[in-house]
Amino acid sequence: MNPRPSIDELFSLGGSLARELPGFEPRPGQLEMARAVEAGFESGSHVLVEAGTGVGKSFAYLVPALRSGKRVVISTSTITLQQQLFRKDIPMVARALGLEPRVVLLKGRANYLCREKWERARGDLALVERPEISKLRRWANETITGDRSDVPFRLDSLLWERFDADGDDCIGEACAHFDDCFYYRRRRDAEAADIIVVNHAIFFIDAIAGGLLPAYDYAILDEAHTCEDIAMNVLTASLSRRSIDRTFRRLRRYFTLPTSLTAQVDERYRELGETLAGTGNELLRLDERPEIAGDLDRLRDALYHLENWIADNGASALTRPPRGDLEREMRISGAVKSLAAQAEVVDRLLAVDDDSIRWAQSSVHGSELHCTPFDAAPILRDLLFARTPCLLTSATLALGGDFSYVRARLGIDRAEELVADSPFDYREQARLFVAPPDLEPDDPDFVVRAYALLEEALAYSRGRAFVLCTSFRRANEFGERLRASGLHPVEVQRPRSGLDRDGLLRWFTETPGAVLVGTRTFWEGIDMPGERLSCVVIDRIPFAQPDHPVLEARVQALRERGEDAFARLQIPAATMLLKQGFGRLIRSRSDRGAVLVLDGRLQGKGYGKRMIAALPPATRIAHLDELQEFFQT
Ligand code: SF4
Repeated sequence: MNPRPSIDELFSLGGSLARELPGFEPRPGQLEMARAVEAGFESGSHVLVEAGTGVGKSFAYLVPALRSGKRVVISTSTITLQQQLFRKDIPMVARALGLEPRVVLLKGRANYLCREKWERARGDLALVERPEISKLRRWANETITGDRSDVPFRLDSLLWERFDADGDDCIGEACAHFDDCFYYRRRRDAEAADIIVVNHAIFFIDAIAGGLLPAYDYAILDEAHTCEDIAMNVLTASLSRRSIDRTFRRLRRYFTLPTSLTAQVDERYRELGETLAGTGNELLRLDERPEIAGDLDRLRDALYHLENWIADNGASALTRPPRGDLEREMRISGAVKSLAAQAEVVDRLLAVDDDSIRWAQSSVHGSELHCTPFDAAPILRDLLFARTPCLLTSATLALGGDFSYVRARLGIDRAEELVADSPFDYREQARLFVAPPDLEPDDPDFVVRAYALLEEALAYSRGRAFVLCTSFRRANEFGERLRASGLHPVEVQRPRSGLDRDGLLRWFTETPGAVLVGTRTFWEGIDMPGERLSCVVIDRIPFAQPDHPVLEARVQALRERGEDAFARLQIPAATMLLKQGFGRLIRSRSDRGAVLVLDGRLQGKGYGKRMIAALPPATRIAHLDELQEFFQT
């Protein structure tokens, strides 16, 4: 029997990967990363790898993961990467290694069709008359996955909600379809799988609350720069008009609810919204506004009344006869639970403790209230990193080779660390221009002066640009000026209208010389290799909103401990995001392009210089006209 090849042999020119993967070429950063990951699997330790763009990080972790013989969960933040791993990368690496791992892609339950709801809705005339229903029926009859992403036409979200496998509507083992339920079948497949691919939301819900994933030996968190935000979302309890409407919508599918009690909840929430709006603040901390506690108390009482009513009268209020006692009980307990969950959020908003920040956000679209943990690190340390060895990797994880920021934010005390350099020649492939130090984003003439730079740069790049803004207001200001100039085809991301993210990306791909002006959603997770994207413009250093209650509370706590909050928190977070924005530009060895930062603080302030040092080593240019020659060669 041949001895097991080493990682070095596998990644060599004559190795199995080169034989199986078309165009494979050894990359030092990839090999280094694969060695580090394999060592992590063998020792059961955490590994942090910042893998520069082009390192080929997925192969660098898949090879050690697949040949480890361990059950591995791979979590990513984007569906694009999950699908690429599941459909392409894992099968390729498995073939190269001569292995046949059982692999499952597990999505959140709302992605799957609920056979029970679908069957029940068949007789609903209001639904039957909708034109999409006959198309959906054809799909539902044929699908073997029940996965919404396989529906071959655009589907309204509220319509899909009527048939999705969401937990609030599920009657579990009381369901006649439990054995062939799309969602539970996938869960059972995961129980027997070697590799389970999930998104970060599922991963962190399971890590924090349990119950979604089977026991596993090692976790790989790709796109790990998003982990803190996603874990925070999972840990945050929220209440909004939308969440209450959604609860009522779901309850009304099964129960005839007493209007007097639902109206009471609506009225209490309306009063709460009015009190919040009356403060005149878009963002506020609830502990600074004690008058809100009274509104919250009354809202909680209204939720309790409805919850108690369903507990007492649910059986006679069911809109359709249940198939048996078990279904009746499950429906009533599910309804009670979903109202209790809303009341529990109110409890958390009313509680007084030092571990959470209770805050509210109001806008013309309504108010939302949130209870966010002060710090995710102690929770993640206890529930995840003290129990399960993990690899965390991303193109943006370290600051100048130092991982202490990400370790502190996530609660990882010890880890093997590696920066695997990108194989790209940034000095040759990329140019970086920073606005003069006296151009600062809060200057009254900022837009006029910054736009002049933007227009000049786009003339050299012939459009083909992303303009990444930190606010919709700024995106709109630049977008309007660009449109008025008529020099390039322009699309601007709008908060609640126009094309969505995918639509804008499609437009950009199909439109020669296009300029896309967008906000946060375009800063990361977009892979646009080739000439179509030759210029990335960044409007300002992406510091988090300074008056955001969560940031304010964290800054205050650090100051009370005598620490420099700006250096500890705000600069590292902004640098990470700046690196992400920069990272949209060079996606392959043949890409060339320029990054333009319109915020002069990047060269005028000491922290700005440290931020530049953390970016990929593009050639700095002092004058935009240097781009003329660059884009001509
Ligand atoms: S088990 Fe739950 S999710 Fe699955 S079909 Fe039945 S009710 Fe729907």
